[in-house]
Amino acid sequence: MPKKYEYGLLIDYEYCTGCYTCQVACAQEYQWPAGMSGMQVIEVVQRLPNDKAYLAYLPFPTELCILCAPRTKKGLEPACVKHCMASCMRYGRIEELTKEMGRKPRMVLWAPR
Ligand code: SF4
Ligand code: SF4
Repeated sequence: MPKKYEYGLLIDYEYCTGCYTCQVACAQEYQWPAGMSGMQVIEVVQRLPNDKAYLAYLPFPTELCILCAPRTKKGLEPACVKHCMASCMRYGRIEELTKEMGRKPRMVLWAPR
């Protein structure tokens, strides 16, 4: 029987400003050495045929993300979710987050291994 993923992060990257606060918040919370974090903000730059360019930031959880189990057990939000000033991320049950996904574009649903 395949594993059932109960909790995850819904990442709405449309309004992500690329400030890296989520990445830093995770690194500080878990005292990761420099350059390591459970969250990595990725910059996506793509040239378009009309000479314009498309720029987006995507906060993407890494293999180090433990979904903030020590925090959520205490009823606290994950550190990255709490510190994002643009409210780009939500933590919750996959079932609930999936419903949110149908409400707007440019969202990513993520569950840890
Ligand atoms: S998700 Fe939020 S905290 Fe992270 S880079 Fe984007 S705006 Fe900043
Ligand atoms: S949920 Fe917690 S462990 Fe995962 S990236 Fe966010 S702060 Fe780091």
